[in-house]
Amino acid sequence: MATFGNLSDRLAETFKNLRTKGKLSAADVDGTVREIRRALLDADVSLDVVKQFTSHVRERALGDEVNKALNPAQQVVQIVNDELVAILGGQQRRLQFAKNPPTVIMLAGLQGAGKTTLAGKLAKHLVKEGHTPMLVASDLQRPNAVNQLQVVGQQAGVPVFAPEPGNGVGDPVKVAKSGVEQARRAQHDVVIIDTAGRLGVDAEMMKQASNIRKATNPDEVLFVIDAMIGQDAVTTAKAFQDGVDFTGVVLSKLDGDARGGAALSVASVTGRPIIFASTGEGLDDFEAFHPDRMASRILD
Ligand code: GDP
Repeated sequence: MATFGNLSDRLAETFKNLRTKGKLSAADVDGTVREIRRALLDADVSLDVVKQFTSHVRERALGDEVNKALNPAQQVVQIVNDELVAILGGQQRRLQFAKNPPTVIMLAGLQGAGKTTLAGKLAKHLVKEGHTPMLVASDLQRPNAVNQLQVVGQQAGVPVFAPEPGNGVGDPVKVAKSGVEQARRAQHDVVIIDTAGRLGVDAEMMKQASNIRKATNPDEVLFVIDAMIGQDAVTTAKAFQDGVDFTGVVLSKLDGDARGGAALSVASVTGRPIIFASTGEGLDDFEAFHPDRMASRILD
């Protein structure tokens, strides 16, 4: 994955140096941990996450499991792998569906994060799995957002509920609420609400998102974060956690070549699972997020 190419290369180099050794001394472990620390920081992984990560790796690498291993270097790689899986959230977390449909999924995140595109991707994915989703256009901030949602809805083959006289022109909370009611009436089993973002965290936007959350009582609130925004990923995620208490994370633009480490820190910093990854502009450039597979890709 391009986003983590540099991190992968750096870790591979570190492990290559380690492989030439037989038994590992404390100095070998310290040197390796230092290199891992630098590689993670250079990839923009947040400092707190790096500290926690390296202290776990160091502790385990100095312990018996490595000391007694036939191949200590390989054992260290395994430990780094385990710890990467842990910061990425451990187990895979699937989308949660409501017992009584429709399942309400609200999307939140900054403008340009990839929410509208994700709405189309998720809808298409759900259709393939036998669901009957409907999209709701509650992003009334960006002039073209409603139209853009209609386009992705058409591509995904799902209906789009847009503001009209009677269901809340100019009022995103009313549109969201009417959209969920409409989905229930028309027996759609999933309703995906696209909401407005701003270029930066903004009190008014957050209030609006929070009001949409209260009005629609979603089963999932997915926070969409652009992996390319670098260091800001963590502070943005914390602001959205305070503002809308999201239930899961979607990492978008993992196909980019920016350092994506900050996005990797989001699960660890917020304690919320990463559920999907977005890897391109097309509706099929989308996958369920598996912490173990992502760790393997990084360590490949
Ligand atoms: P929104 O403002 O959050 O609704 O963001 P959009 O869905 O409009 O996406 C902003 C831009 O990013 C658009 O040009 C999308 O085509 C693009 N985009 C969205 N997701 C991805 C992705 O995973 N990879 C890439 N390369 N571009 C993406």
